Amino acid sequence: MQRHLEQILEDMDVLRPFALQNQENNAELRSTMRRIIQHIEHLQRTPSISPAHHHSIVALLAQLLDLEHGILLKAQQNTELSEQEQQQLQTHVRERQKMLQAIQQDWSALQTFLNNCQDLLGKTPTTNDDLGQQVRSLEKCLREHLHQDGQLRTELNQFINALQGSIGSVLHVLDEVGEDAPELKQTQSILQHDLPDDPIAAKALLQQAREGLVQAGNKLNTASQTMRDNMQQQVSQMTDLSNKLEEAEHAARKDPLTGLANRRKLAEFLSSLADDISISFVMIDIDHFKKINDRYGHDAGDDILSELASVLNDSTRSSDMVARLGGEEFCIILPEAELKQAGILAANLCQAVSLHRFTSGAHHIDVNISLGVSQKKDSETSTSSLKRADQALYQSKKDGRNRVTLAK
Ligand code: GH3
Ligand code: MG
Ligand code: MG
Repeated sequence: MQRHLEQILEDMDVLRPFALQNQENNAELRSTMRRIIQHIEHLQRTPSISPAHHHSIVALLAQLLDLEHGILLKAQQNTELSEQEQQQLQTHVRERQKMLQAIQQDWSALQTFLNNCQDLLGKTPTTNDDLGQQVRSLEKCLREHLHQDGQLRTELNQFINALQGSIGSVLHVLDEVGEDAPELKQTQSILQHDLPDDPIAAKALLQQAREGLVQAGNKLNTASQTMRDNMQQQVSQMTDLSNKLEEAEHAARKDPLTGLANRRKLAEFLSSLADDISISFVMIDIDHFKKINDRYGHDAGDDILSELASVLNDSTRSSDMVARLGGEEFCIILPEAELKQAGILAANLCQAVSLHRFTSGAHHIDVNISLGVSQKKDSETSTSSLKRADQALYQSKKDGRNRVTLAK
């Protein structure tokens, strides 16, 4: 009997340095302490205990509480115990041993104490067991409990840390779609604090956090759908805008009446041509166009302009560029064409126009054009070559119209 009791005391002393050394596992330490205190409180309430033992137990309880506080304070500072504190601790332990030895006098009180311990650890009390056996089994249970509790809490802390990151991301996403998530913010603040040592309180808080997560999960589903919808809307808006932009870009280079290239497009086309090729220019102006307008009306004049544009287009290569410069003036750029070839094309055009049956409504209108042709010299710019073609055109007008003049 004495040997078994000494065993208990020894075992309990084994637990204490273990708790002290693993200072980061304060939760284990505290929960173990609390459990011991609970046993003793229970023991206090056992009627079979004599008043003297009651007194001892109350004193033991006070000592343990005192000790626990001392150790916890120390653990928070994360420093070694001073020599004086170690001595105090040893004194506490010795006093506790003495008090426990007093308790052992009362067999039934001791039995109740052990049973209570075992009961609390989920082990069926077996009063008929050998006391030594019970003590060893109790010690084993305590160790396992400590180990499992510590492991569980470590895992839980790791999980909570990972969860904090996810919660931050989820809050960010919900914020993006203007969705408030107070329950998730509450969950975040719950998890930011250390979990209480009391397993029941810890479980209740975790349950509350879990509910917050479930609610946030539902909101996240709606939010991601909203975000997807918004994104799709933005994508289709973007497509519309880029199409409109393309149309506008295109329109900015087109003459609205004839559909031919305008001056801007002509300039771009010129600058896109290689420097080392021969380029010829044909300038065209309708003869006495004002008279056509005067006689048949402005709309008829417009019809003539559109029809002439078709004739010009039909008479040129796809690599040539036909542009309307304004009014009744047109220009054709002929890449890789010498003056002679350009002159032939201009003569053909002049003839084709004079033979073409231009119509506007019920009217058949005779149309003639005058043309000037130039070939760009190596030494000159496109602008000055165009100017020479224009001068040649002027010469055609001077010489009686409906003709072609080649610039020198
Ligand atoms: P010339 O043989 O010397 O070229 O004589 P012209 O009458 O053709 O030349 P002029 O410059 O005297 O007149 C050009 C006319 O072209 C004047 C203007 O009202 C007309 N015109 C300019 N732009 C347009 C247009 O877009 N549509 C119509 N219908 N007429 C236009
Ligand atoms: Mg003119
Ligand atoms: Mg004219």
